[in-house]
Amino acid sequence: MGRRIIVALLAMLAFTSPVRVAAQDARALLEQAAEAMGGLERLRSLDNVTYTGFGQRAYYQGGGNITGDPQAPMKWQNVTDVQRTLHLKTGVADYQERWGQEFPFAGTFGLDYQRRTSTQSGEQLLDHPLPALLAALADDTELGPVTWEDGLTVIAFTPANHSGPAWIALDPASHLPRFSRWTSPHANLGDLTTTAWFSGYLPFAGVQLPMGLRQELDWRGVTNLMLQIDSYRMNVPASQLPRVASVTIAPPPPPQAQVTSLAPGVWDVRVNGAGAAVVEFANRLVMFEAYGGEAQTLLRIDAANRLVPGKQVEAVIVSHHHFDHTGGLRAALSRGLEVISHRGNESILRELAERPATRFPDALARNPRPFRFTPVDERLVLEDATRRLEIYRVIEHSHMPNGVFAYLPAERIMLEGDLGDEAWNYHFWGSGYAANIAHYGIAPETNVPVHGSGAIPMATVLANTARQVAAAQELCRTLAEGGRFQQGCPVQYDAEGALALEPR
Ligand SMILES: [Zn+2]
Repeated sequence: MGRRIIVALLAMLAFTSPVRVAAQDARALLEQAAEAMGGLERLRSLDNVTYTGFGQRAYYQGGGNITGDPQAPMKWQNVTDVQRTLHLKTGVADYQERWGQEFPFAGTFGLDYQRRTSTQSGEQLLDHPLPALLAALADDTELGPVTWEDGLTVIAFTPANHSGPAWIALDPASHLPRFSRWTSPHANLGDLTTTAWFSGYLPFAGVQLPMGLRQELDWRGVTNLMLQIDSYRMNVPASQLPRVASVTIAPPPPPQAQVTSLAPGVWDVRVNGAGAAVVEFANRLVMFEAYGGEAQTLLRIDAANRLVPGKQVEAVIVSHHHFDHTGGLRAALSRGLEVISHRGNESILRELAERPATRFPDALARNPRPFRFTPVDERLVLEDATRRLEIYRVIEHSHMPNGVFAYLPAERIMLEGDLGDEAWNYHFWGSGYAANIAHYGIAPETNVPVHGSGAIPMATVLANTARQVAAAQELCRTLAEGGRFQQGCPVQYDAEGALALEPR
């Protein structure tokens, strides 16, 4: 063994030795970090720090890509005009940003770059090294243990009002915070741990602050946020800060499931403007979509289970993997429902089903059930003496290549998610209805979309789609006039099919 290798091995041992870790005192390490950032007294004397910047955020934490394939291209939200004031003495932050989708989107709200304002508190302030370090050094914070990770010193700390630990990692050379980490509950992903990486420290009025913030999830290593800071200001006077109204909003009335009969043995079961059909078979009920979140899906299942004495919802058809459409997947599994979806969604749905929720137990953690999956390739028919339900793979649809929709041929009812929505402002994949109806030779009279007020005549759906396609074309035209070229422009499909290309 060469001398150089032995030296390297000894260095590695020293680096990972638990003895050395145990000898370090968490508080002393944190105080050293405060010293490196500008001195604890200086940090504690700050009233506020305000920064501005811009960046990108993963749409639905990476659960909004065209498919659930880990190699599917990421969909990003563009975040601009960010301004955040960290009120360090009170532990709250005022946050403002403008954002727009960097992909074709159906709603004005996703494309309008309106400034949005929110007030943040608690763990929401752990994503920046300054409030994170001050939280770790607070008198009532519980510290420890100290561990090593990839050459960084990692200190666990539990602030007084937290249900479990957060972590801060220090660079052994500069002593500056390298990352912070915390766990929060997530409807689709169970316990979700975020690591916020800090890079590019520069001094501002004697305080070292990072110019780069990047957040990484413990799900597929997704980069959830990339933020580049372009200015820091200390102790900004109130007259220069946004006036964030502290409005007390009355809590909304508890949501209720709204049940509408569509045909004998077919109901629309909806909560807060989203839902889908429940279909009766000889021995069971089958539900379309586990939309929204746990509460919404359990309300729909409970309402459905009251419809026919002796029959329960035993399966759920999942139109596609997008996180709004699978927010209730774990809740549905907790009731033992079989999952039916396109074969291409099996692995992501299994991933969602198998993630732990031990720190923040959800319905599935309290009532664990196995993941049972029935794949759809081109077509799957559920049929018994009383009912025939056909499930088809969605074609000609840039929003969800692994989508399915369902059709009740006797009732001539179509059940679908994200083929369309009466409330959409723009339609960029407008040929979806016509293409699927023609491709599978079906003849729906009524459509039950996941988004919206409920069942609507197919003729109205097609008229809505034509109007929404025209609005998208108009949007693209006005943006181009202003020199801006939005993703999805020019529109490629109208309600009939692909548009003729114009020479460029
Ligand atoms: Zn979708």
